[in-house]
Amino acid sequence: MKRIAIDMDEVMADLIPKHLQLYNENFGEALTLEDLHGRKLREVRPHAVEELRGYLSDPGFFRDLDVMEGAQDVIQELHEDHEIFITTAAMEFPTSFTAKYEWLKEHFSFLNDLNFVFCGDKGIINADYLIDDNARHFKRFEGTGLLFTSPHNVHVTGYERVDSWGDVREYFLK
Ligand SMILES: [Mg+2]
Repeated sequence: MKRIAIDMDEVMADLIPKHLQLYNENFGEALTLEDLHGRKLREVRPHAVEELRGYLSDPGFFRDLDVMEGAQDVIQELHEDHEIFITTAAMEFPTSFTAKYEWLKEHFSFLNDLNFVFCGDKGIINADYLIDDNARHFKRFEGTGLLFTSPHNVHVTGYERVDSWGDVREYFLK
């Protein structure tokens, strides 16, 4: 059975709209997803890097993120004949552990707790595939990296890309 490791933020959980909304409210701006084409918010507004990190350090931030469209159906489908591990670099925001765990239990209750991997460096992950929006995690990963499209990574090349969970379904069915 092939093993698929799946990232949470911007792959399963829709993080950017909430992060952007908090920034806009606090700084009186009206940035949109278009403004984040090819860049992260902290690169677009480097003066706010502390505040942007602060929003993510709020213990409740990750609890009510929307599920990415199609993620539940496709992961449930893949779960039938693949070994699924959720691999999130949660060590980047240790205050997020409880919210991330509860979010997974709420939206992906068919997965076993023991298949949740709250990690730091994903280079340690041993899987056949890693679905992630950050290509840096593929550098030391020995399996196949699938880059999940997110506004910040639209210009990244050199990896197989999936634009949606529909694409993921197609990739693994072929
Ligand atoms: Mg991510």
